[in-house]
Amino acid sequence: MKQRYDIAVIGGGGGGFAAAWTAARLGASVVLIEKADRLGGNAVRGGVHSWEAVAGATGVPQDLYDQLRPIPGAVGVSSYGRHFLWQDPDRDSDYFPGGEMVIDPTRSYADTLRRCGTRGLAHDEARCREQWHGVVFEPDAMASAMRRVLKETGRVTLKLNTAFAGVEHDDGRVRAVQLDNGRRITAGAFIDGTADGLLCLAAGCGAHIGREARSVFNEPAAPEAGDNHVNGATLIFRVTPTDRPGVEPLPDGVPAECWWRPAFPLVSMFHYPNGDRNLNMLPTMEGREWMALGYRAALAESRRRVAAYWRYLQTHYEEFQHYRMRWVAPALGVRESRRIVCEYMLTQHDLLQGLSRQKHDDIIAIADHSMDTHGNQAQRCGELAEPYGIPLRCLIPRGFTNLYVACRAAGFSSIAASSCRLTRTMMQLGQAAAAKACGVPVEALHVGTRFQA
Ligand SMILES: Cc1cc2nc3c(=O)[nH]c(=O)nc-3n(C[C@H](O)[C@H](O)[C@H](O)COP(=O)(O)OP(=O)(O)OC[C@H]3O[C@@H](n4cnc5c(N)ncnc54)[C@H](O)[C@@H]3O)c2cc1C
Repeated sequence: MKQRYDIAVIGGGGGGFAAAWTAARLGASVVLIEKADRLGGNAVRGGVHSWEAVAGATGVPQDLYDQLRPIPGAVGVSSYGRHFLWQDPDRDSDYFPGGEMVIDPTRSYADTLRRCGTRGLAHDEARCREQWHGVVFEPDAMASAMRRVLKETGRVTLKLNTAFAGVEHDDGRVRAVQLDNGRRITAGAFIDGTADGLLCLAAGCGAHIGREARSVFNEPAAPEAGDNHVNGATLIFRVTPTDRPGVEPLPDGVPAECWWRPAFPLVSMFHYPNGDRNLNMLPTMEGREWMALGYRAALAESRRRVAAYWRYLQTHYEEFQHYRMRWVAPALGVRESRRIVCEYMLTQHDLLQGLSRQKHDDIIAIADHSMDTHGNQAQRCGELAEPYGIPLRCLIPRGFTNLYVACRAAGFSSIAASSCRLTRTMMQLGQAAAAKACGVPVEALHVGTRFQA
């Protein structure tokens, strides 16, 4: 492995992968450092094997989708099946305790590029059914495709099972990063795709955690006083059909009842192309709770809750007795942690103004996911009327000239982060950060253009 590259990317989740691929396609030499044994981050190891509807998801994610499409069973487009808000538990014998997305062969990738403009699930069933579509994928196929396309560029050195461990910086420039194997890497520019902003934090960048007080950004939905609430975390699991129906036994020491909240949470479920189901509890753990426990203890406790939750589903909803547990995600799905102080902080004002009223001249991506938090502190700020733009400055940590943050730790307020965090939006950030780091002028940076008004 050589020690000097044009671009060094730390973290190979959605944002980091997209940054590495984009930089290599632009001709740069790239090193991508990933601490896990595979690429994809939360969207692979965290079990989020779906891309929700969102505007602007062209470029890298669409190219990846095109890579997966010829592989049998690797990917599909989904539409709404059942939703508890559209059903009556007393009337509907197939009542579902949450929301369900099913594979819909009549839909295409272009149909997944819009969320905004509805009044939400509770008030707009017909429009949500017509408008909200996602992509579901097999994680092994996704991780392999990511690896393959990087290799095909001939310009990416990929180091899996290798963690970033330290940074050298001066005068607002990162000079080198140290790895946990003792190596030192230098590069012209560095991109932080670690999801938690670890490279930026090590370089001394400021960060926000929890909800900002209203006085910080004057956001209408912000609390008067700031606090340490973060979005809830979920341990996702997958079940597979069985021809021997029944209720699976609870592991020793796991109570059957819900011991961590008043009642078992709702579930967001989607169908894989092979008929398996992916289940996402909303949520498994309050944000504050997992932060207080620490990651390892939170993951262990979440495994117990998954077992109890699966027991609950199987005993209360007969359809689940026709499935057995196949896989529990090896990584806890963390929706929010630190957000780095950047040249510009995206806020609820941007989300509410939308593209038609935002004044920025450096917008490099668009998005339109709702303001969406899970857990007791849920701020139901709702759906958006139109897509909003994300300025390039949200990716540039304040005070640095060759460091970018292209992951969920980018320059977002807590409320903006609850909307901006989708996997494909992270890919847009990675794409833009890499292009900028490669010298592409801001006017030429990709802005998702496939929003269908
Ligand atoms: C439960 C849940 C459900 C979600 N549902 C959806 C959904 O339906 N649709 C959707 O689009 N989005 C969804 N999201 C959001 C989305 O999955 C994430 O926000 C997004 O994938 C984050 O991408 P990222 O690139 O910021 O980080 P990640 O994907 O987390 O990638 C960070 C990478 O950095 C690596 N890393 C960390 N530290 C180091 C280090 N020291 N050295 C080297 N590498 C390091 C990690 O191993 C990881 O691979 C969901 C999120 C959660 C938690």
